[in-house]
Amino acid sequence: MEKEKSLTLEELLRPCVKFRNAGITEQMEKIAEEFLEVDEASEKYVVSPSDFKKKHLAMEIADVIVSCVTYLHNLGYDLAGRKKIYKEIYKKNDIRDYYKDYRKGE
Ligand SMILES: [Mg+2]
Repeated sequence: MEKEKSLTLEELLRPCVKFRNAGITEQMEKIAEEFLEVDEASEKYVVSPSDFKKKHLAMEIADVIVSCVTYLHNLGYDLAGRKKIYKEIYKKNDIRDYYKDYRKGE
């Protein structure tokens, strides 16, 4: 069996450059649309959980993440800029102890 190649941060958090000229309103509408799809997928999963519905929900959540990464990119945050933002967010969350159990490996 061939070993699966690990994705780099850049590959994991790649913006949709096709929408590089999207305005703020269009980007917010896209994020809202994707969020509603997460809401719908969550409800379907909660009502009758299945592996298929769980994967569908996960993909909708990832759509929100990609939409947000695209918005950051369009605001002018390239990968290095986004890394700085993520670091600040993680630092803020760390101060709030949001990663307490994560650090312990639990
Ligand atoms: Mg979606």
